[in-house]
Amino acid sequence: MSEMKIALLGKTQSELVEIVNRLGMPKFTAGQIAQWLYSKKVGSIDEMTNLSFKNRERLKEDYEVGATAPVHAMRSVDGTVKYLFRTPEGNFVESVYIPDGERATLCVSSQVGCKMNCKFCMTGKQGYSGSLTTAQIINQIYSIPERDTLTNIVFMGMGEPLDNLDAVLRSLEILTAKYGYGWSPKRITVSTVGLRRGLERFLNESDCHLAVSLHSPFPAQRAELMPAEKAFPITKIVELLRKYDFSKQRRLSFEYIVFGGVNDKLIYAKELVKLLRGLDCRINLIRFHAIPDVDLQGADMHTMLAFRDYLTQHGIFATIRASRGEDIFAACGMLSTAEQQAEKKRNSIDV
Ligand code: SF4
Repeated sequence: MSEMKIALLGKTQSELVEIVNRLGMPKFTAGQIAQWLYSKKVGSIDEMTNLSFKNRERLKEDYEVGATAPVHAMRSVDGTVKYLFRTPEGNFVESVYIPDGERATLCVSSQVGCKMNCKFCMTGKQGYSGSLTTAQIINQIYSIPERDTLTNIVFMGMGEPLDNLDAVLRSLEILTAKYGYGWSPKRITVSTVGLRRGLERFLNESDCHLAVSLHSPFPAQRAELMPAEKAFPITKIVELLRKYDFSKQRRLSFEYIVFGGVNDKLIYAKELVKLLRGLDCRINLIRFHAIPDVDLQGADMHTMLAFRDYLTQHGIFATIRASRGEDIFAACGMLSTAEQQAEKKRNSIDV
């Protein structure tokens, strides 16, 4: 059996410095490796040609670039592509590439499954199988054919990013640092249900945009849709957010899935205005993709427009997010669940 090598992908500058120090290489080698990884995006250590042959061979004994191609790609009629990556444990994680005019956004996953158990989410129904490493997060961006066209990254795929905060913060460092991708933090949004400790740390340690899943301004109903409400209520989240400045570069948005007959009446919009009064933020209204075995439906467009108009007229900028890739199971967790089930079936036939 071949020995597992350690991925260089996903290493921060200081981690690379530690590696080269340990291997007795000059310190500047760390900067060269970072450049090969994050600017030139090579696929192997052999391609790092300004490292001496001896150093490349030494590095290859324990390390590899560690990029792995997606195992599936499903293309929607609207250009959205859903990629499925396989983890070494045989699980699947999804990333969705969403082209939109000048923009091309990649929605990345941070965990395999999720602990948060939101009622409307297929990933939540899978349960939690583990957190992705920084290498596995960066690999989703590194290993898709459209990688050089990306303008934005959103952490809105499988998992709760703040429940895997160390790896997510390291990924954000790599994406925004000069030695890494060198992106402006304005191009990256992290979406969360709102976890008390993680949220505060994220706000203090990163400048990336924040999106908070809200879905209902009423605590009892929010708790029913999102059990995380019980641990850190939306009123406390808003209280914490009021301590930060979102009037400049950093943007705060709230995600609100509009469920028909559940949270779509104007009384909800009115309550949202009350809850968020004075906060620099916007609300993204999202159309719901129906999922199996869940008695929730999407609201009709007429209702969504009225909801949006109410918010805008009362001082909250609101948009309706276009629904993309409906024909390829674009709702988070749908494709990986289907693949997991297919794999189980294949395995049970094999034995
Ligand atoms: S919506 Fe997000 S936080 Fe909630 S269960 Fe799904 S992946 Fe987890």
